[in-house]
Amino acid sequence: MDFSLSNFLSGLWCEPYDWVKWVHRNLSDNHCPECLMLDGCFFKGDNHPPHPHHPYCHCILENIMHSEVEAKAKVFADYRKFDPYLFNTQGKETHGKEKMFHSWGYDVTDSNYLKSEIERQGLRKYIAGDYKLGFLNKYGQRISIRIEIPNRNSNYNVSFNAGFMVYPNGEIRLNTPYGGK
Ligand SMILES: [Zn+2]
Ligand SMILES: [Zn+2]
Repeated sequence: MDFSLSNFLSGLWCEPYDWVKWVHRNLSDNHCPECLMLDGCFFKGDNHPPHPHHPYCHCILENIMHSEVEAKAKVFADYRKFDPYLFNTQGKETHGKEKMFHSWGYDVTDSNYLKSEIERQGLRKYIAGDYKLGFLNKYGQRISIRIEIPNRNSNYNVSFNAGFMVYPNGEIRLNTPYGGK
């Protein structure tokens, strides 16, 4: 074991570089859309999309400090993801998700509560690296984050996965309030 002063100091005083920033480098003419969407996105060091993403991928993973993630991370959930989408207030949706939320004691008047709760928990868990990588395509990298809310019709909480898309500089945006159990 190495008890050198520098190891001691780095373990004790310095923040670990335990997050990475995906950096797409313009080294060739064919820029694949997926790497372009990942460009500038922050991921936890042990929870990032497979790298390199494909043969001849010129992207690099740059180490960043967790404090940068904490300082820059932000979240956005569009109100319309709840009203009309989740609660199907216009009768155009066939997903049936509103029935689940009704059974837990929520209706469209709770849209702002659910929006702020999903934003709050989503941001906190993203910063903590507590997310699951989902599908990546030309629209970007999806992640899912477990959200917990009280079941107002019982003494228990219910939890479900909310789907987010990752954007550069630590931003995540809600794709779907209820992406699955
Ligand atoms: Zn690529
Ligand atoms: Zn690449």
